[in-house]
Amino acid sequence: MADKDSTSPKPFRVIVIGAGIVGLSLSHALQLANIEHVVLEKHDKIVSIKGAALIVWPAVARIFDQFGILDRITKTTAPVENSYKRWPDGSLICRDDTMQTVSRLFKIPSILFDRQTCVSHLYEGLPDKSKIHTSRRLERIEQTDTGVRVHLADGSIEEGDMVIGADGVHSHVRKLMWDYADKFEPGSIPEIDKEVMSFGEYRGLFGVSTAPDNAQLGNSNTHMILGQDVTMLLFSQMDKAMWGVTFKDEFQKAEHKGKATEAEIEAVAERFADLPMTNNITLGDMTADLGMGANIAVESAIHLCNILHREFASNPTRRISTPDLAALFAEYQAGRYARAKEYVETSGKLTRMNSHQSYFDHFFAGYLHKYIMQSGGKALIESLSVAPKLDYAPTRTIDESAEGWHWMETQEMRKGKKGVWFKYMVLTSIVGVTAAYMARAGLPALLMQLNV
Ligand SMILES: Cc1cc2nc3c(=O)[nH]c(=O)nc-3n(C[C@H](O)[C@H](O)[C@H](O)COP(=O)(O)OP(=O)(O)OC[C@H]3O[C@@H](n4cnc5c(N)ncnc54)[C@H](O)[C@@H]3O)c2cc1C
Repeated sequence: MADKDSTSPKPFRVIVIGAGIVGLSLSHALQLANIEHVVLEKHDKIVSIKGAALIVWPAVARIFDQFGILDRITKTTAPVENSYKRWPDGSLICRDDTMQTVSRLFKIPSILFDRQTCVSHLYEGLPDKSKIHTSRRLERIEQTDTGVRVHLADGSIEEGDMVIGADGVHSHVRKLMWDYADKFEPGSIPEIDKEVMSFGEYRGLFGVSTAPDNAQLGNSNTHMILGQDVTMLLFSQMDKAMWGVTFKDEFQKAEHKGKATEAEIEAVAERFADLPMTNNITLGDMTADLGMGANIAVESAIHLCNILHREFASNPTRRISTPDLAALFAEYQAGRYARAKEYVETSGKLTRMNSHQSYFDHFFAGYLHKYIMQSGGKALIESLSVAPKLDYAPTRTIDESAEGWHWMETQEMRKGKKGVWFKYMVLTSIVGVTAAYMARAGLPALLMQLNV
């Protein structure tokens, strides 16, 4: 981190590690903010073959619109038509129209595609691709008196003022940060925080395949198959089938943490191959629980870029002191912590509920959920309506006057209306019950009067 000084011969420079969904979003946002940066990717290609299904909700769709890539995305994907919840034998529990409701309220088609397609759109849409460097794997980060020095596996070095880790769930940047914190402030990162990242109660196998001929999956549908200790997802998008199985068992033990071996992957695929996914197909016909990870991470990237834009856009060579930089990070964390925590906790609860971890979970997921789906949908709409966007770039194609974006503003009005509606309901019920009672009691004259 930089030391106290008022000017610098070089502009403030950010080093982003990882060119996935988040790294590429950061690059686009930093380019729009005119902030000097480089993105370092360890692979030799940006678009890898690995990936899983991804749903982009309106909050991030709006950011993608600010990047100018939303139009192409919506023109090349089929909006989700139906979402189904199924019992372990593949039979139907209920349909869930949350995505369609959200889409209608925000006037944005529901976007379902795979990670590779998302990465490809983000990369192709960059104003300047030269900021992205492939075959450059981070090894270590050195803090100097004037900034940070990033050492790469090929022996090269990048220098800058800030490193942003966008290197995925097994982040090397996070590990280096923890090591650094342990060295200079022992105990500042609680062990439990580290364990959370290395110990998973659940594991998953995910993939993208060509949809089997007999599957009748439709153009764009989602299926969630609930079960004891196992939840499966199956999404169709044109000719692709994106599928996943999340399970809880002996693989959860700590010694199995991190990436699975090929043999483990094969063993898991074989084990679940016969599980039905719909009435027509099983998992074996293909060669997670619904995640919000990418959506939340892109929002976080945008929140950070808004802060950096405010601080450096008008004065790129301003030198920032270490305490001031720490204050920016604290501001970033304060702005994101509660929201990220809420999503993580909700996701954890859903995983447990859908894999029937208790009788209540089983009952709730299977029987009760369909009746209170609407309130869950409302919570999602509320949350999407207050999501951040870039403060410094216009939207291009979306209609921000759509009801969804103003959901919270109109809450009070809704409450008021709800009150009137509620009073109306109570009143009509009283009238109805009284009328019925009196009709039974043979008082038609009074009944007539009341109905007037
Ligand atoms: C089945 C499934 C379904 C999901 N569904 C959704 C969904 O519907 N909605 C949603 O929002 N999220 C979803 N997620 C989560 C989402 O896929 C991830 O949150 C998202 O891909 C994370 O993006 P990222 O850019 O942070 O990391 P990644 O996509 O993992 O990219 C990290 C990049 O960093 C590079 N890298 C790693 N280490 C180094 C290094 N040392 N040096 C240089 N480069 C490095 C990697 O090569 C990679 O390119 C789902 C996940 C799964 C598994």
